Amino acid sequence: MNHNHMDEDTYNLFLDTLKRYVKERMVPAENEVIEANEIPAHIIEEMQELGLFGLNIAEQYGGAGMSASQYLNALTEMSWAAPAYRAIMAIGNGIVNTALSKNGTPEQREKWLPAIASGAVAAFAITEPGSGSDSAAMRSMAVKTADGYILNGVKRYISNAPFADVILVIARTSTEDLPRNGHISAFLVPTDTAGVSIGKPDKKMGQQGAQIADVILEDVHLPVSALLGDQEGNGFQVAMNSLNNGRLSVAAASLGTSKRALDSAIRYGMQRTAFGEQVTSFQLTQAKIADSQADIYAMECMLRDAASKLDQGLDIRLEAACVKMFASEACGRIVDRVVQIYGGAGYIQDYDAERFFRDARLYRIFEGTTEIMQLVIARTVLQQYEKGLV
Ligand SMILES: Cc1cc2nc3c(=O)[nH]c(=O)nc-3n(C[C@H](O)[C@H](O)[C@H](O)COP(=O)(O)OP(=O)(O)OC[C@H]3O[C@@H](n4cnc5c(N)ncnc54)[C@H](O)[C@@H]3O)c2cc1C
Repeated sequence: MNHNHMDEDTYNLFLDTLKRYVKERMVPAENEVIEANEIPAHIIEEMQELGLFGLNIAEQYGGAGMSASQYLNALTEMSWAAPAYRAIMAIGNGIVNTALSKNGTPEQREKWLPAIASGAVAAFAITEPGSGSDSAAMRSMAVKTADGYILNGVKRYISNAPFADVILVIARTSTEDLPRNGHISAFLVPTDTAGVSIGKPDKKMGQQGAQIADVILEDVHLPVSALLGDQEGNGFQVAMNSLNNGRLSVAAASLGTSKRALDSAIRYGMQRTAFGEQVTSFQLTQAKIADSQADIYAMECMLRDAASKLDQGLDIRLEAACVKMFASEACGRIVDRVVQIYGGAGYIQDYDAERFFRDARLYRIFEGTTEIMQLVIARTVLQQYEKGLV
C-alpha cells in the first residue's frame, strides 16, 4: 500500500500551477535546452522551487508526498514539454526514491531523500558495455573489505551521469552466478567519491538536454553504509521493483509526447491548404488523427489503471510491462503519423515534428526494450496458467 497521497484540493492547485509553468516557461525554453544540450540553470532552480524533484517523495523527507497516480499524472503534464525536463527529476523521484523507500535503511533515507527532494540529481546505473537487456550478466564488482567495499567497473549510457550527485549502482558482490541473482547488490555512490569518474556525454539521436555518459568506477572505496539496506544479494530485486516505477514513468512520458505531437499536427494541418482545402479536411488525415486519439485514450486508461494498482500495493510487473510497451509503441506510431501530416515540413528541423519523431524513438528502448517487455508479459501470463490460476 502506498501511503503517499496529496489532498485533492492542494493537488489540483499544484496541477494548475504546473500546467501554466509548462506552457509559459518550459516550452518557450525548449530551443535553448536543445541547442545547449542542457537545461538552463535558472529553469532548474525554478523546478526545484516548484518542488518537482520531490513530487513522489514522502512529506516526512521534504517531498510533496504524491501518490503514484498523482505523480504520473503530473509527469504526463510535464512531458508536454521537451523530454529533458522529465529526465532530470524522474530518476530521483522514481527509481531511486522507490529503492530507498522500500529497501533503504532509515539512515540512508534520512541522508538521501531530503537531498533529492530539494534538488539533488540522482542516477541509476545497471547497464554496462557488455550487458544491457541481460543485466544479470554484469561484470562490475564490489569486493568486501574489513571496513566496507571496493567497487570496480564501467556503467554505460547512464542518464543524468554528468549532473548527478548520487548514483544507485547495481554491482556483483559474488563472482559466481547465484540463484535468483543473489550475486547482485545495490550501492549508493556519491559522485564525489574518489575513483568515480564520468565519461564525455554521448551524442544522441534525440532528447537533447537529457545527457547520458559512462560511469567509470576505479577502486572506489565505499563504507558498509553505502550498501542499500545493509543487505547483499537483493540488488536485482531492488532494480526490478524500481524499474516498475520507471516503466510507468516512461509510459507517462510517451503519453505527454504523444499529446503534444498530435496537437501540433492538428494545428499545422488546420492552417495548411492543399487542393484548396485544409489538410485536416481530408479523410485520410482524419484517420491519422482518429487512430492517434484512440491510442492516446488507451494509454491514459492503462496508465491510470496501473498507477492505481501500484497505489494499492499490488504487484504490477505485468501491468507495468504492458503499459510501457503499449505506450512507447503507440507514441512511435503517433509521431510517425504526425511527420506525415506535416508533409515535407515534417522532415525539416525548423518545425517540431521531426524532433518529436527522434525524441520518441528512445521510449521503445530504455527501461527495458519492447522485446524484453514482450518476454516479461508472456512469461507472467504463462506462469499463471502453469500455476493453475487461470
Ligand atoms: C538515452 C539512453 C538512456 C539510458 N539510460 C540508462 C540509465 O539511466 N541507466 C541504465 O542503467 N541504463 C540506461 N540505458 C541503457 C538501456 O536501458 C539499454 O540500452 C537497454 O536496456 C537495452 O540494452 P542494450 O543496449 O544492451 O541492448 P541489447 O541487450 O544488446 O539488445 C539488442 C537488441 O536485442 C534484443 N534482445 C535482447 N535480448 C533479447 C531476448 N532475450 N529476446 C529477444 N530480443 C532480445 C533487444 O530488445 C534489442 O532489440 C539508457 C540507454 C539510452 C539509449
